[in-house]
Amino acid sequence: MEQSTYEAVNEFFDGAADRLGLDDSLREMLKRPWRELQVQIPVRMDDGHIQVFTGYRVQHNGARGPYKGGVRYHPDADVEEVRALASLMTWKTALVDVPFGGAKGGVQVDPRLLSNNELNRLTRRYTQSIDHLIAPNRDIPAPDLGTNAQTMAWIMDAYGQLHGHSPAIVTGKPVEMGGSLGREAATGRGAAYILQEAAKDFSLNIQEASVAVQGFGNAGSWSARLMHGIGCKIVAVSDVDGGLYNAKGLDMDALVALQRDYGSISEYKYAEKVSNEELLALECDVLVPAAIDNVITEANAGNIKAKLILEVANHPITPGADRILSETGVTILPDILVNAGGVIVSYFEWTQNIQEFHWEESRVNEELKRIILQAYHAVRERAINEGTTHRQASFEIGIQRVARVVELRGFV
Ligand code: NAD
Repeated sequence: MEQSTYEAVNEFFDGAADRLGLDDSLREMLKRPWRELQVQIPVRMDDGHIQVFTGYRVQHNGARGPYKGGVRYHPDADVEEVRALASLMTWKTALVDVPFGGAKGGVQVDPRLLSNNELNRLTRRYTQSIDHLIAPNRDIPAPDLGTNAQTMAWIMDAYGQLHGHSPAIVTGKPVEMGGSLGREAATGRGAAYILQEAAKDFSLNIQEASVAVQGFGNAGSWSARLMHGIGCKIVAVSDVDGGLYNAKGLDMDALVALQRDYGSISEYKYAEKVSNEELLALECDVLVPAAIDNVITEANAGNIKAKLILEVANHPITPGADRILSETGVTILPDILVNAGGVIVSYFEWTQNIQEFHWEESRVNEELKRIILQAYHAVRERAINEGTTHRQASFEIGIQRVARVVELRGFV
């Protein structure tokens, strides 16, 4: 039987727990989620009929602070996937040492098929249904695949109707409502900082590096723009409808304008059309999967030509593919490190809301750089010293930090 995303994440967890010599009871506590909620979300559609959706909130581990994690709107967002993503959030927040636990939410819906009013009603109903689990000091949602700042504004408004003005209930909200400057670009910016630093370690000339990016949503488009900004040549990008390739490089400003004005990049003229599958196998120095999970598997790992992969999406590479790529000398910088810029700036947003004080964008970006590069260097040092992959080192650091706090709290 095919391995679920949750089983795959636990395979990474088990390997790290074995190397750390974690005892069985602690391992069991850390592996399993603390709490899972499934809710029914009835929504009156614009034509008057009621459609019933299914939503989840999974709180994986809250030992190090309030649960933290995005809300995903996607047809495949079932409980196994949400549970896996919640677990990744636990190890990510620990790895970059921000005072949060790990959680994730999801609604099984294709948001492209709903009107704005329908999405507004769905989001409010979902918020009401998970209201007893979330709070600024308990669990703080954020945007993820299929959701954005507007979704967070609706959550904040629906929560505020019951609890009073509560900007710290969500992060990634519009700046006008207490969102942080720099949060929208933060995931991509963190990835670009890591690429710039990794280039030194892997003897990659950033001015000549060619980069292919899968996904042109929040994480993918900002990664592409900011990697272009540090001198890379972006040779390919894609969205759900397919990809674009030009070995001479793509015009980022034109692509961003197309995405903004038409919600799609497919009208871009100066590139060859490629499929999402072909994009992964293109000739390039750096591959950046930034769309959805499980895109690189044992079936296509052998086709990858890039020597460096930065996982901006969560769990884009299955454990089987991870082994094949690592054995063939491909360096993978893992999701829980590379895309942590989002949760780092979410942490800044949350603290700004609590203090009722605003930071300049320059301060946000400087602090983001400091924290994410500190984590990168810790991972790199551990991987070299212990002879592990960067993913193994990242999981070990994250798990060790959570395990220590669980023990200090006196659970075991
Ligand atoms: P998004 O909804 O803004 O964008 C998703 C992009 O992926 C779009 O361009 C969409 O067209 C494309 N896409 C969707 N299905 C696809 C498919 N089957 N094949 C190829 N492309 C497809 O979402 P996002 O927030 O950018 O999230 C993307 C990934 O980054 C997810 O794995 C998410 O968990 C991860 N991530 C996001 C953040 C964040 O701050 N937004 C933070 C950390 C990690």
